Amino acid sequence: MRSAPCFAVVMNFAFEPELIRLAELFHGKGFLLCVVGGRVRNSLMGLPLSDTDVTSAMRPEEVIALCRENGFAVVPKGLDFGMVEVHIGDKTYEHTTFRADTYAEGGAHRPKRVSFSDSPQEDAFRRDFTVNAMYAEVLTGNIVDPTGGAEDIGRRLIRTTSRDPRAILGDDGLRIMRLCRFAAELGFDIEENTFEAAKECAPLLADISAERVRDELVKILMADAKYGLPAQESVLRGLHLLDETGALDVILPELARCRGVEQSPKYHRFPVLEHIFRTTAMAKPDITLRLGCLLHDAAKPEMLEKQGNMHGHDAAGESIARDVLRRLRFDNDTVDRAAWLVRNHMFDLDGRAKEPTLKRRFAGWGKERALAIADIREADFRGSVGEDIEVGTAERWRRVLREMEEAGAPFGESDLECTGADIMEWAGIGPGPRVGEIKAALLMHCAAKPKDNERGKLKRLVRDMACERKR
Ligand code: ATP
Ligand code: MG
Repeated sequence: MRSAPCFAVVMNFAFEPELIRLAELFHGKGFLLCVVGGRVRNSLMGLPLSDTDVTSAMRPEEVIALCRENGFAVVPKGLDFGMVEVHIGDKTYEHTTFRADTYAEGGAHRPKRVSFSDSPQEDAFRRDFTVNAMYAEVLTGNIVDPTGGAEDIGRRLIRTTSRDPRAILGDDGLRIMRLCRFAAELGFDIEENTFEAAKECAPLLADISAERVRDELVKILMADAKYGLPAQESVLRGLHLLDETGALDVILPELARCRGVEQSPKYHRFPVLEHIFRTTAMAKPDITLRLGCLLHDAAKPEMLEKQGNMHGHDAAGESIARDVLRRLRFDNDTVDRAAWLVRNHMFDLDGRAKEPTLKRRFAGWGKERALAIADIREADFRGSVGEDIEVGTAERWRRVLREMEEAGAPFGESDLECTGADIMEWAGIGPGPRVGEIKAALLMHCAAKPKDNERGKLKRLVRDMACERKR
């Protein structure tokens, strides 16, 4: 039985004129053009639409010729796989010819042989999940649903298109991460057989390129941002699924090591891995912050093993974070910022730092990093107690930061009202490390006394420093 609410929405498919024009041209050549994948799924669910994938029996060369004849720009995306990108006005359509794929042994993402086919019935079985294998005929609005995707939407289930999930998940290791990702974004459960097959096939993820793994991981970490589900029901769920399927052992063995590692009940409700997951899901939706959270305690098992306690896991964690993020081919800026968060996440743990100390630290770090430290502390605390409560230390730091901003405090040496040349002139010295030392000292001074960041006052300060040194 297909669930009624889904089909009520079918009638509301509103296809844009560009798409209808394309479908009419296909129709003129005797082909039915269908929308497939995320757009059909999301239309049925009343969710926002992202890209539009279209499909038909027309062979790629013919798609290219037809589009060019009609003045549309086309970009061949992988002709062997039947993929052609079509641009009409500001709209982009990715057309893939109906096909059936054959995969080689192993889990690599690319099929070894592709044969084009004439029907969506066959095409559906080379797709991953039933909810992604529904076809909407553009000119009629008819839904073709060979694998029961609409029914699965009604049951809120992710299930492979084939009744033999091993055949689907075993062909392409990336599908295991896509499985966790769709379940996380949509808040769906994974059908039992699909889940069992995922556990068996997880080792195949080792054959997937780091970039693809990274992209799926990012989507899981940001799953709440996709359709607005609460992070506890999306991000946390996605992370649990990575763990339960065994994907985590392959893509992030450093984290798999944290599984079940107990920690002091005085501060923690959860063992290390569960704490890490909760911290990540408690953090606001910023990918660098969430990566920092994901890796912030990664060195705890190593420390425990080496020295019997977890001291120093922040410094050791920084190097693990760098290794992991580089391995996953994150850009240098993301690696640096996330690893920096890991390194500093224990800052002022007891919240007792004096205000001038905080101000000097924040001025040295800059506003963005100081705010990020407040964010990670908040997430870390909430991830320890398992509740979305107010975190006093983070609130205090944010207040101090606001006050610094209001008072016009410098956040970095470039905010000082003097240059290196000024310092050399005022102190009567030449270029050298002393200039940098004076600059750093001025920044620390002005962090707590922002009014002194004015040329006359700075000049006096520099002169005093120079005299003091001579004495
Ligand atoms: P999103 O909303 O994230 O774009 P989507 O379902 O459109 O979701 P895409 O990655 O854009 O996902 O892929 C489009 C369609 O292509 C999918 O719905 C699915 O049918 C098919 N597909 C994509 N990647 C794979 C894969 N690795 N294995 C099998 N089918 C895939
Ligand atoms: Mg898509």
